[in-house]
Amino acid sequence: MPIKLPSFRPRRDAYPPDLWTKCPSCEEMLFNKQLDKVQRVCPSCGHHFRLSAAARLALLLDHGTFVERDAGLQSVDPLGFVDQKSYPDRLAAAQLATGMRDAAVWGTGTLDGRPVAICVMDFGFMGGSMGAVVGEKVTRAAEYALAQRLPLVVVSASGGARMQEGTLALMQLAKTIGALERLRAGGVPYLSVLSDPTTGGVFASFAVLGDINVAEPNALIGFAGARVSAGTIAQELPAGFQRSEFLFQHGFLDRVVHRSELRGEIARFLGYLVPASRRNGTFADEPEPLGLPSFRPLSFLSNLAERVMPSEADAPTNGSGSHDSAHEPSAASQVPPESGAARRAAVAASLPAVPAHDTVEAAVPDPVKQEPERASEGTVDADAHDAATPERPQDAERG
Ligand SMILES: [Zn+2]
Repeated sequence: MPIKLPSFRPRRDAYPPDLWTKCPSCEEMLFNKQLDKVQRVCPSCGHHFRLSAAARLALLLDHGTFVERDAGLQSVDPLGFVDQKSYPDRLAAAQLATGMRDAAVWGTGTLDGRPVAICVMDFGFMGGSMGAVVGEKVTRAAEYALAQRLPLVVVSASGGARMQEGTLALMQLAKTIGALERLRAGGVPYLSVLSDPTTGGVFASFAVLGDINVAEPNALIGFAGARVSAGTIAQELPAGFQRSEFLFQHGFLDRVVHRSELRGEIARFLGYLVPASRRNGTFADEPEPLGLPSFRPLSFLSNLAERVMPSEADAPTNGSGSHDSAHEPSAASQVPPESGAARRAAVAASLPAVPAHDTVEAAVPDPVKQEPERASEGTVDADAHDAATPERPQDAERG
């Protein structure tokens, strides 16, 4: 076939680096536009490339039905974490690269005509790592699904908990599991889709708790890396260890589904799994959650947090994040003058505007002061669950 060149442009313009992708499995060179048309699955060997959150939503939901919620949530830097770069700089770089505020997006839409609450993760944003924002979005999606009796779909793509948020990232495991347990007790279905990769804290929490867990072919799924696992048990690992098919053969997954069939498969499951209706319009006679009746995980955690959190007198004052400093002149004076702050503010301004019903908010504005409050909220929520939940639908309608 003769090749027609559009014009004689400088070589670097004619061949931008993102024009072709080499398939890591069969080494075929694939034209990116062609690859996008086939949902980023290699036409010659079936290798599933990673999908961005936007592409994932477009793949699963009916066209134009997605309404994003809590778009304004973004991380702060509660620990003042610095490795080769400071955490706010890393966030800004990821925001610039992806156009997202954090590694997850949640909202509502219809899938084959059925309304769902959906949360999708994007590995392109800091390896899809789960910090306070990702955990909060999954939790809010589950709470909304419970309040509105909508099936919940979560698509995971994550390397695990975000180390830059330390313990706050690890706390998301307990938080998301708590919300999903209330969803389960309320009889609302939850479908988990595990894409490549689903590892670490995401694997250890919400990703494997679906009523149905489906995975894409050859996705890396596991808790620790293969080398760590092999070292721990001092044995060679079997072929295909931590891949979808291996986990399916060992009963850990319900299905391995090709991307082209994923939407249809989920729609079929949604046909079988219908949210239980709210009896008498209340939550009062819902089934009790399984487990030990006297053990309340949230009370336990908040008690623990109160003991280990420093008192306010010792609290360091550098807890305010970049977001606060952008909006409050008084807080800005506490941030050391650096070009990074201005650059981050510019990145924040370049991100898509937040819809009017959402406000830009920091997930954990000031952990030292907020944590005891959050913890006590959690306690109230756990103990007075029945009293607290009926208000949530109203909240949702207002929002
Ligand atoms: Zn290939």
